[in-house]
Amino acid sequence: MDTFDAIVVGLGAHGSAAAAALVRRGLRVLGIERFARGDAMGSSGGWSRMIRTAHYEHPWLAPLATASWDGWLALERETGTSLMSRTGGLYGGPAASAIVEGARESVGDHRVAHELLDAEEIHRRWPILEPADDTVAVLEEQAGTIRIDRAIEANLALAERAAARLAFGWRLVDWRPVSGGGFEVESADGEVAGAAHLVITTGPWIGEHVPDLRLPLTIEREVPMWFRPTTDPSRVGADRMPIWVLRDEDTMFYGIPHDPELGLKVSIHHWGTFVDPDTVEREVGEAEVDRVRAFMRRRMPAANGKLVAAKVCLYTNTPDETFVIDRHPAAPGVAYASACSGHGFKFAPVIGEILADLVTTGSTTWPIDRFQASRLTQASTAE
Ligand SMILES: Cc1cc2nc3c(=O)[nH]c(=O)nc-3n(C[C@H](O)[C@H](O)[C@H](O)COP(=O)(O)OP(=O)(O)OC[C@H]3O[C@@H](n4cnc5c(N)ncnc54)[C@H](O)[C@@H]3O)c2cc1C
Repeated sequence: MDTFDAIVVGLGAHGSAAAAALVRRGLRVLGIERFARGDAMGSSGGWSRMIRTAHYEHPWLAPLATASWDGWLALERETGTSLMSRTGGLYGGPAASAIVEGARESVGDHRVAHELLDAEEIHRRWPILEPADDTVAVLEEQAGTIRIDRAIEANLALAERAAARLAFGWRLVDWRPVSGGGFEVESADGEVAGAAHLVITTGPWIGEHVPDLRLPLTIEREVPMWFRPTTDPSRVGADRMPIWVLRDEDTMFYGIPHDPELGLKVSIHHWGTFVDPDTVEREVGEAEVDRVRAFMRRRMPAANGKLVAAKVCLYTNTPDETFVIDRHPAAPGVAYASACSGHGFKFAPVIGEILADLVTTGSTTWPIDRFQASRLTQASTAE
C-alpha cells in the first residue's frame, strides 16, 4: 500500500485548492478523482464563474471573498496563468427585493466601492440590458469572471510540481481509520492507499462519503448557456460590461460578458430541478433554452442569438444556502467541505487553506463557525 501525508478525495474546485495548500506546507499528497482530468461532471463544469465581493445572499461573506480574490491573484502569479478578468458586478431587481437589500447591506457593512443605478442608467451604460422600469442595482468594482477550468488545472499543476501524485479514474468506495493512526482509502478497483490526514471534497457525491453525518444537502440541475449576441460582441466583452445578476419576474437571471472562446453567458440561478448526480439527465432540452430565450426577449434582445453551448452542471445546496466546512466528529483527522449552493467557487483559495489547517492542526484562524455541520444536522434532527 502506498502511503502519503495527506489524501484529498475529489479534485474539483475545493479539492484542487486543498491539494495546493497542502503541498505548500511541504506535505506529500495523493489526490484522487473518479473522472478523467478536466472532465468536470460535478459542480465545477462550464468553464467560467462570477467572482464578486458583495454577497447579497450572505453579506458577511465579503471579507472571505476579498481574501479569496487575493488568493486567486497569488495563484496567477505563482503559476504564470491568467485566470481572472475584472469587470465589476451589477446586482439588481425591484428596490425591496432580497438581492438589492442584501447587496446594499454587503457593500455598506464592508465598505465595498460601489454605485447605485436605476433602470435607465443601467440601459444607458450597457444598452444590451433592458431591465424592468422598477429595477435598481448595486454596481461593485471588485468583481469579475474567472476561468474555472484553468483555475483548477493551475492548482493541480502546482501540486504536481511539488511531487503530489494525482490519480484520475480512481473512485473512492470506502475510507476508514487504521489502528495506530491515519486513514486508508479504497477504490472501486480494490486499490488501497494510506495517509495521516484525509480531505473529502466530493461535491454532489459528498453525502456518500460522510453518510453518518446525514447532511441535508440537495442536488440541483443547472444549465449554463452561451449565446452569440446579435450585436457586435466587442461591445459586450469583459472590458465593456460587468457580470450581472438580475431578479426578473421572481427568477434570478445572471450573465457573464462575451468571451471570444465561449460566447455570452446567460442563465438562471436555481433551475429548481432536484436530481441524483448518478442518474441526472446530461442532455439539454429545447424547453430549457426557451426559458432563457424568453428572458432575453424581454430584457436582452440583442443577446438572443445562436446558442453556442449549454452544459449541465450541479449545485449542491444546503438549506441555508451557505457551506459546510468541518472536521468529521468521529475522525478528527478528516476534514470535508461542501461549498457550493451555487456560489462557492470563488472561495476556493481560502477553503483550501481552511481544509489544510483543519487536517494538519485541528483548527483554523479563518472564521468558520457559520460553516459548521452542527447548525444543519441539529436543525434537521429537530424537524
Ligand atoms: C452552473 C453553476 C454556476 C455556478 N456559478 C458560480 C459562480 O458564478 N460563482 C461562484 O463562486 N460559484 C459558482 N458556482 C458554484 C461553484 O461552481 C461550486 O461551489 C464549486 O464548483 C464546488 O466545487 P467542489 O470542489 O465542492 O465540487 P466539484 O467540483 O463537484 O468537485 C467534486 C469532485 O469530486 C469528485 N468525486 C465525487 N465522488 C468521488 C469519488 N467517489 N471518488 C473520487 N472522486 C470523486 C467529482 O468527480 C468531482 O470532480 C456555480 C455552480 C454551478 C453548477
